This record gives sequence, C-alpha cells and structure tokens, in this order.
Amino acid sequence: MLIVIKIMESLEKIINICLRRGIIFPTAEIYGSISGFYEFGEIGKRIKDKLIKIWKDFFVEENFVEIEGSIILPKDVLDASGHTKSFVDPITKCKKCQTIYRADNLIEEKLNIKVEGKSIEELNKIIKEKNIKCPKCGNELEDVREFNLMFKTSVGPLAKEEAYLRPETAQNIFISFKRIYKAYRKKLPFAIYQIGYSFRNEISPRQFLIRLRFFTQAEIEMFFNPENENCPIEKYLELEIPVLTREEQRKGSNEIKWFKIKDLIGNVIKSKWQAYFLAKEFIFFTQVLKLSKDRLRFRHVLEEETPFYSAGNFDLEYYFEGIGWKEIVGNAYRSDYDLSTHSKHSKEDLSIQEEKKFIPHVVEPSFGIERIILALFFENYREREWSYFSFPPYLSPYLVAVFPLVKKKEIIEKAEETYKKFKEIFGRDIIFDSSDSIGKLYARADEIGIPFAITIDYQTLKDNTFTIRYRDDKKQERVNFEESVKIIENSLKIDVDIKG
Ligand SMILES: [Zn+2]
Repeated sequence: MLIVIKIMESLEKIINICLRRGIIFPTAEIYGSISGFYEFGEIGKRIKDKLIKIWKDFFVEENFVEIEGSIILPKDVLDASGHTKSFVDPITKCKKCQTIYRADNLIEEKLNIKVEGKSIEELNKIIKEKNIKCPKCGNELEDVREFNLMFKTSVGPLAKEEAYLRPETAQNIFISFKRIYKAYRKKLPFAIYQIGYSFRNEISPRQFLIRLRFFTQAEIEMFFNPENENCPIEKYLELEIPVLTREEQRKGSNEIKWFKIKDLIGNVIKSKWQAYFLAKEFIFFTQVLKLSKDRLRFRHVLEEETPFYSAGNFDLEYYFEGIGWKEIVGNAYRSDYDLSTHSKHSKEDLSIQEEKKFIPHVVEPSFGIERIILALFFENYREREWSYFSFPPYLSPYLVAVFPLVKKKEIIEKAEETYKKFKEIFGRDIIFDSSDSIGKLYARADEIGIPFAITIDYQTLKDNTFTIRYRDDKKQERVNFEESVKIIENSLKIDVDIKG
C-alpha cells in the first residue's frame, strides 16, 4: 500500500512543479478552469518546441512534405472518413444524479473484464444483467447510447454549413494528397506529415496530459505501392524491439517479448514501412529522448480494437508510474481505405499512375506530443534536497543559466557581460538571474531542468574563469569561456546506434 501511495504522488509532484513554475496549467483557471484543456507557459512551450524540432530532425526524410492544415473541416470530409458515424464512445447517465459515465469503462472497472469492441446492445445487457448502478449515488442508469467525440461548429453568419474541429490531423493529409502529389512532383514512396492540434470531446478528461480535449499530434502518412514498397528496411532488420503480443494479451499476461524486426515482417507486421517506423520509433524514444527500455512496449492491438480497414495496429506504450501503460504513438496500417473513401465521396479520382494505375497504401505513425512530454516529465523527475528534472540538454527549456555569486555591483556587471557572450553563441537558450541567493538560484534552475549553471565570482574579475555546475551531480569545475562552450556544445550531440 505504501508503494502505491508513493508512486501516486509522482504525478501530483509533477503537476505541482508545472503549476508553481507556470510550465503547464489549466485553461481559464480564474473562472474555475475547463476540464481537459491546458495552457503552456514559456517553459512548457520551450520543451514542446524542442521536442518537435528533434522529432523533425529525426523522422523527416528527403521524400517528406509538410503541411499545416485547417483545424476546422467540413462535414463532408468527416462523413467520408467515417468520423461522424463511428467516432463515438458509449455513454450512460444516472437517472437521479445525472452523472455521465463511459459505459465500457464503468463495466471494466466494476467487473474487471474487457469489453472493447462490444456493441451498445451488448453493453446494455451487461449493465442490466450484472445490475450495475451509479457509483456515486447507487441509482439506476439510463440505457447506453453513442456519443460522438467531435466538437461540432457551424460556418458563416447563417450557420448553414456544418463543420467540425478535426479529430485527427491525418484527414487534412488525405484530402490534400492529390495536390501535393502533383505540385511537389513526388514519386512513391513518399510521406506527407503534419504537426498540429486535434480536438476530441472526451467524456472524462483526466490524469493531466493523458486525456485531453485538445492536443498536439505529429502524424506521418507514408504513401506507397503495396506490391513494391521500396522501403529501406535493411538497416533495421537486426534491431530488437519489445512487443506485447496478441497471444499474451489474450492470456491476460503482460509479458513482453523481444523480437528482431526481420522476424516480425511478413508475420505480424504486414508492411515493411510499418516495421520501418516501429524501428525508428524505438531508436528515437530510447536513444534520443532516452526513455527507459523497460518502460516501453509495442502492443499489437487486438483484432476487436483494430478498425476494419486496418491491416494491423501497434501502439507504442509508455509505463507511467502510478498510472499504467498508455499509448504515446499509434501505428496504423490504413491500407488504401482513406484515399478510396475520399475518392468515392468527393468524386475526385485519388489513384495515381505509375507502373500502373492504383490507389496508394498508407502506413501511419501518429505521435501524441503532450503524452510524450508527460513521459519526459515522469522519466526525468528526480528528488534530492529539492526536486528537479534531469532532461537531456537538448530538451531542457534553457541550456545555461548565468548567475552572479553575490549581489555585488562589479560581479553582477561581469555576469551580465558573460551572459551576453554566451547569448551570441546559444541565443535564447541562455537565462540570466541575479534575483536571489546562489543556492536558491541553483535550486530554481535545477527544478526546471537547466543542465548547466555558470557562476561569476571574484576570481572571474581577475582571470575571466568561472565555475560551471552540472545539474545532475552538482559537481563544479573552474573553466574559461572557450572550455565551457565546448562542454555545452558536446552535450547537444545526439549519437544514435541503429542496432539498438
Ligand atoms: Zn447517480
């Protein structure tokens, strides 16, 4: 029990730092806030921007095209994609206290069984047969009904045109496919990607950044010919990745097995491109973001959870202590479903003519940026006399903090001068602070994960040397400007071993 209480606290502690330092905080706090919506302050936005930059540096290749699309989409698009009909959760309402529950979650929590993929009728039957009542007041529940998770809006002063806030960024990519393909003179295989907001009217947003009502997706749609994928998978064939197989899940087991990429292709993975992205993701999360290998797994999504058009989905999940395994990247083999359905509904032919005429297939990795940020918080949270985040330097909100050892005029002036010199090299990644005692300044810098602190003292006035302090072990060294720049620059190098 003690252990449970201790780990439950880690989310609380992370939230506390986020609030205290204005990193991420609830939207409309002064009005009592609105559930499932959060604001990013300067520090949070810096971490997010750096994550996105590193993500682009790592994933984007020559044959990738970026778009930034509209967050409002006409109803036609979402009719074609199936969202107006199928993007629903089953809900039930208490007849007395009016509390609304997700019917499947309620059953799963009460009976400890999996009901994923069950129909409304089946859920209703279970609730009646097992006599499930409102957990709050114990009264009867209404019949289960479908609730569409999209935010609806209308366009124009007459509000005649129905529209929705997009539930995923992928749809912009499919509806832009024809123009991008022509305008950018691409040959298969090629990818269109987008990083942007998506919106889902979740029934019960919770667990901070885990379930949000608006969030950032980074989605890649890789278009290819299924008969000739032309995928450079060779380099990853020997890489081993952790998989939670369908067999283990059916047994109710959580045992993770390690497989070489080459042993998964043609077996449980139906496309080389899907294997390619799983391999790249594993390298990215373990070697670039430095998440622990034992907190990552690719869950082969069960048949009943997989959309009918998909030839296989793999969720990359991270183990959040005190919360459990949660998806941080969804991998779907969407086949030719999206382009076909948009061809049909729009009456625009979205097939292409290469060796022959066909509709390209699509493999999609879809990254949940806020959940990845939360995983970085969990992974890097540390405690000593004060708590701090041990982010890799290239993900830290600031790289270097410059402090005067004491609040003496000549020391402060020297510190400001040194700060300006660093600024010429590292730009906005440098922060200057003289507002407190040196101990408090270190604590504040550590808390938000600044990896290096430069302290200007009396000796600096004599020989221009200063101390560089390392966040993780608190060690200090006396260095000159050039030496410190070298140390800091070295910390930004990302070495990747594709063998894992
Ligand atoms: Zn009730």
